[in-house]
Amino acid sequence: MEKKDIDWSGLGFGYVKTDKRYVSNFKNGAWDDGGLTEDADIVMNECAGVLQYAQTCFEGLKAYTTEDGRTVCFRPDLNAARMYDTAQRLEMPPFPKERFVEAVKQVVKANEAWVPPYGSGATLYLRPYMFGINPVIGVKPAEDYQFRIFATPVGPYFKGGAKPLTLCVSDFDRAAPHGTGHIKAGLNYAMSLHPIVEAHKAGFAENMYLDAATRTKVEETGGANFIFVTKDNKVVTPKSSSILPSITRRSLMYVAKEYLGLEAEEREVHFDEVKDFAECGLCGTAAVISPVGKIVDHGKEICFPSGMDEMGPVTKKLYDTLTGIQMGRLDAPEGWIVEI
Ligand SMILES: *Cc1c(COP(=O)(O)O)cnc(C)c1O
Repeated sequence: MEKKDIDWSGLGFGYVKTDKRYVSNFKNGAWDDGGLTEDADIVMNECAGVLQYAQTCFEGLKAYTTEDGRTVCFRPDLNAARMYDTAQRLEMPPFPKERFVEAVKQVVKANEAWVPPYGSGATLYLRPYMFGINPVIGVKPAEDYQFRIFATPVGPYFKGGAKPLTLCVSDFDRAAPHGTGHIKAGLNYAMSLHPIVEAHKAGFAENMYLDAATRTKVEETGGANFIFVTKDNKVVTPKSSSILPSITRRSLMYVAKEYLGLEAEEREVHFDEVKDFAECGLCGTAAVISPVGKIVDHGKEICFPSGMDEMGPVTKKLYDTLTGIQMGRLDAPEGWIVEI
């Protein structure tokens, strides 16, 4: 397979139009057979459900080249399952999980020339998504839907090393206690745009959101879950029904226990105890883990002992182990690496 002539390591995180994408339509109560198309544009009615009442959801995962030259994806079955749950919460017809994984494979295969080579740090980012497409004016779920997956090559997340981030504790809420924080709905992102623009203006990389009901417990950022490391090397991640269940975070907790022999627990994390942790990181598909060096709470600074120059030692071990598994340098648990 001849690869595209691209400066892979110079790529940023932006949209690049690739050759093929997958489309399936839900009409008259059923998904059609679906297939690949070259057409990157979507034509829809002015009153489409997605445009009026934001009935849309998405997923994000990566395809990449392993050390021994295989093209693979990381745990696409979990993206399929999460999108299934999301669709149900949004009263959308769930896309069958086996078909989701099959469609991922088709898109990667059809765009194999766009899968960055091993060692470039770049990956092919896959974006499955679904939306209501027929006209909807009275408030109700759409009847017709479109499911799509496109692929776009993205550069290495950390160019020149992972520098710890500075976060601020947000005055806004990301998710209501019985709302949609646990599903990957576009609407969660729409309302996070103003808070993130404000945070950036104030010089912060991300917002730390606290639980909306009591503002005492740590939730997540706009698009990544937290992991903390205690001073005695225990890995802790916040538990809440309004956090999006990150696949990276779930994988890291497994890696902590099964590969590194660390204690790892998912539990409520009070903001008051954040100052006592030794390390902090944000996890998600894009970066795997971004180290956090400092959290600012209305002028009061919490500085983690791992500092502002590099990842903390446990965070680094977690990062190296999970990326080692992903890139085929370490043996993966059954089913984690899906070959295309
Ligand atoms: C997608 C997402 C994450 C990260 O999930 P991964 O499966 O690890 O990519 C975390 N938080 C939110 C709000 C998200 O939308």
